[in-house]
Amino acid sequence: MENQTAKTEFKTSTGANVVVTAELILKETHYADGDNIAVDCCEMGIVTAKIDGHPDQFGYHKLHKTIDHKAGKIVATIGNLSLIEKNNSLVEAIIDKLKQHPVWIAKQAQIEKNQKEIAKMEAARDSSPGYCRKCGSYCYGDCEAN
Ligand SMILES: [Zn+2]
Repeated sequence: MENQTAKTEFKTSTGANVVVTAELILKETHYADGDNIAVDCCEMGIVTAKIDGHPDQFGYHKLHKTIDHKAGKIVATIGNLSLIEKNNSLVEAIIDKLKQHPVWIAKQAQIEKNQKEIAKMEAARDSSPGYCRKCGSYCYGDCEAN
């Protein structure tokens, strides 16, 4: 399946045009002993911002603590580009759009299913005699005996 991209556009507080691209990677090339092979995958790519008159910026990051700025409340960044709430909601919208892709939805469902199975196995393991969470083996408490 082809990689999917979604774009949005806005202006910085100083009027520079910004084009933000988010990508959902569904196929990547692996180098297998001299052969290039295309492999299906499902990962979010790096968010890119092309800003008129400035170097491209990479990597969407949501701030834990917002910053008050004369242009508005800064809630996230792409590289060195700060995003006020209004522009951040545009970026979140394109990421959310990519997350509507059936392959992404199926992957999330698989992750959820796996987590439930892992929780069930861990519960069974924890209730079996001799298992020790501290050392992760059936030590019957030996790891704490010294
Ligand atoms: Zn132990």
